[in-house]
Amino acid sequence: METFRFEIVTAEESVYSGDVQEVIVVGTEGQMTILPKHAPLMTMLVPGEIYIKDKDSEMYLAETGGFLEVRSDRVILLADACERVEDIDEDRAEAAKKRAEETLKGSPAHADALIAEAALRRSMTRLKVVEKRRYKKKAAG
Ligand code: ATP
Repeated sequence: METFRFEIVTAEESVYSGDVQEVIVVGTEGQMTILPKHAPLMTMLVPGEIYIKDKDSEMYLAETGGFLEVRSDRVILLADACERVEDIDEDRAEAAKKRAEETLKGSPAHADALIAEAALRRSMTRLKVVEKRRYKKKAAG
């Protein structure tokens, strides 16, 4: 099957680079499936799951917001942060969620509330991706 080059980069590292058959991301208007020869575009991503299918395997990652560029020769995803589902530290995400919730409970200043809300979204995205994959694994036996 035909493939295209897909890269995920953050400010810190290259998270993924490879030839893939299909990618699914979450754009501002919902899920987007990218297949070979997709029309060029640029779009913002909201925090959510990334699905990658290459020749031999499927992969799931969590991203906390970013930008997707579909070019004729490759597709590049610039992410704020991005982790493979198996690398997500659940305890850390739970702790981040709790911290954000505690901040929001204490009638914070507007700027602090915005920061806590963003942290809450990041932690909930990570937990949701882990949970969804765990459930799917179980369902598949
Ligand atoms: P925390 O408060 O736990 O640092 P955060 O949402 O503020 O969470 P980010 O700023 O989104 O963290 O990410 C900082 C770095 O830490 C990134 O490299 C990101 O991939 C990684 N990271 C954050 N949370 C987790 C997690 N639960 N599991 C694995 N890596 C994580």
